[in-house]
Amino acid sequence: MPNSSANTTGHITEKLPIRLIDQFGRTVDYIRLSITDRCDFRCVYCMAEDMTFLPRNEVLSLEECARLVKVFVSLGVSKVRITGGEPLVRKNALWLFEEIGKVTGLNELVLTTNGSQLEKHAQDLKNAGVKRINISVDSLDATRFKKITRTGELDKVLRGIQAAKLAGFESIKLNTVLMRGFNDDEALTLVNFAIAEAIDISFIEEMPLGDVNHTRESTFCSNADTLKILQSEYPLIASTETTGGPARYWRVANTKTKIGFISPHSHNFCESCNRVRITCKGELYLCLGQEDKIDLMPLLRNHPDDDQALVEAILGSMAIKPKGHDFDLKRIEPTVIRFMSHTGG
Ligand code: SAM
Repeated sequence: MPNSSANTTGHITEKLPIRLIDQFGRTVDYIRLSITDRCDFRCVYCMAEDMTFLPRNEVLSLEECARLVKVFVSLGVSKVRITGGEPLVRKNALWLFEEIGKVTGLNELVLTTNGSQLEKHAQDLKNAGVKRINISVDSLDATRFKKITRTGELDKVLRGIQAAKLAGFESIKLNTVLMRGFNDDEALTLVNFAIAEAIDISFIEEMPLGDVNHTRESTFCSNADTLKILQSEYPLIASTETTGGPARYWRVANTKTKIGFISPHSHNFCESCNRVRITCKGELYLCLGQEDKIDLMPLLRNHPDDDQALVEAILGSMAIKPKGHDFDLKRIEPTVIRFMSHTGG
């Protein structure tokens, strides 16, 4: 059992805190919880244009989401990211943030959002205990923004960013997926914006998830190329800072901005993977790029008042966390059929 705790005399001690440690010795202390598969955007790399969403009763209730977070925190998880779909389109989502914000032992409650609802909710989220916030923005040109998101309004998102700044989160970071032929010429514009707003930005290489209607190889834009473009314009200082995640960071000299690169193709970050993902259906995925999972929903619903089965299943899942993902752009079929909106980005 990966979590048996033995002291130096070999006796099993009950007092050592339980930790989630996988078969490769990696400690899992970070969960990403998708609270809905629904979204008000239909980003071309993330969703099909006409998506069929799950019926309500197949989606975790907010109470079930809160219960799961509490169980994971009791197993040593100290960071929770709420994601989706678009988490802020879920009715009463704020209640969940408030509940999670009160959980003892949780150090970081963070959020990934498309920003469309932030103008309304930023201050309440901050008050609920959300520390940091990632906002996905792929273009600063309204026409292009619409083309990429299919339904999004750039103005609304920009107002959301301003509301987040006013609310005073510890950090705000833009997430950008650059795609050749869509927005690959905007890296500098987006970094200039981030510098002007004194916020951070990360570039994420497009991952072959979900069955979208463009070939990933033709739109692929490597972070190594983006870095070269940015270095020709700015003095960038490699940073050793890490959030425990896959991003590698560079500081833009004499500014408040750092630039992250999440490069699943050119940089395999699996050896330090500290996270698992829970879908809005309660599936616990052990790796973003693999199919290994266990279903927590039946355990939640069949044992409404007892967490034991849940705890055992989560501890047991550490034995099937894969060593790493395996993204291959040349494959005709997507590596993983499920959409990012299902797994939670
Ligand atoms: N709706 C929220 C948002 O837009 O940030 C949260 C969910 S979204 C799935 C989370 C992140 O996943 C976004 O930053 C999005 O750009 C990223 N994403 C979605 N599909 C992706 C893909 N195929 N490759 C890389 N990143 C992707």
